[in-house]
Amino acid sequence: MKSRLRSSLRVSALVLASLAALNVLAPTARAADTARQKKGGGIDWNERAAPWGKLRNVAPDAQKKSGFKLFDNVHYVGLQTVAAYLITTSDGLVLLDAAYANTTDLLLENIRQAGFDPKAIKYIIVSHAHGDHFAGAGTFVQLSGARVIMSELDWDETERRQAGGLPTNGLRLKRDLVVRDGETMKIGDTPFTFYVTPGHTAGALTTVYPVKDRDRTYRAVSPGGLGFNFGPEWTEPYVRSFERLKALGPFDTVLPNHAYMGPRDLFDVESDLAKRGAGWHPAAYGPQRINAWIDQILNAARQKQDYERQHPEPAGK
Ligand SMILES: [Zn+2]
Repeated sequence: MKSRLRSSLRVSALVLASLAALNVLAPTARAADTARQKKGGGIDWNERAAPWGKLRNVAPDAQKKSGFKLFDNVHYVGLQTVAAYLITTSDGLVLLDAAYANTTDLLLENIRQAGFDPKAIKYIIVSHAHGDHFAGAGTFVQLSGARVIMSELDWDETERRQAGGLPTNGLRLKRDLVVRDGETMKIGDTPFTFYVTPGHTAGALTTVYPVKDRDRTYRAVSPGGLGFNFGPEWTEPYVRSFERLKALGPFDTVLPNHAYMGPRDLFDVESDLAKRGAGWHPAAYGPQRINAWIDQILNAARQKQDYERQHPEPAGK
């Protein structure tokens, strides 16, 4: 009985396999099957579970976004999707992320419109080794001689990517400043503390620094990488990094590396700032709200993790 059941199961498996080979299975079943074979189950975890939802896709020629003063020492100089922050210190300007290779003109325009000379950029912090954050850096280096800061692992990845010579990876960067986990670098009057928070990339670099608003100073965090577009092998490190990030708090505000990925959309913050008057800073979320936001991220990451445990990838992939 048992063996007959087993053999009939084997037969139906064979039938299914040949049906699949003939492409006669229902399209949804086929799609699900193909999806499972892809990294991360082929599921868009940003869309399914992340607090920011589906990744926003904007064509390069629609990326223009006017800059704005976010804090007394921070200007948003980035794009519609990818953030870039210009931080003023007593020893020159710091650019946190440099966006794409072909959008540097937009950043430069925002920097100049804010009243700054791009040649005064002394440091560029790269949050992680994806082209929408590092590829513009080379142009700034050429222009101002800025020093580039990355984690060791993401320098490795940047070099790997740029070795291909693809123009989308920008002007070739020379390995420059390598920061270690927990290291603080004082630039003029402003201390920047770095944490290597793997997940989104192997060496995603989280930066913690003070931002000023009127007579207050807030503790800001810019997470190294947020999006869930990574394979199953990085889900556990991602979870650990965000557990750690929570423990590194309390934080007063979040400056995410994509404008829509923080506790609030930064462009909503921008419009609230314009009508703020004597009120509270609209991005001074406070530790409670930020921890709730981190919990949402952790919850999404654990859903991804559970799924991946239940649907392990075939060996040898
Ligand atoms: Zn990325």
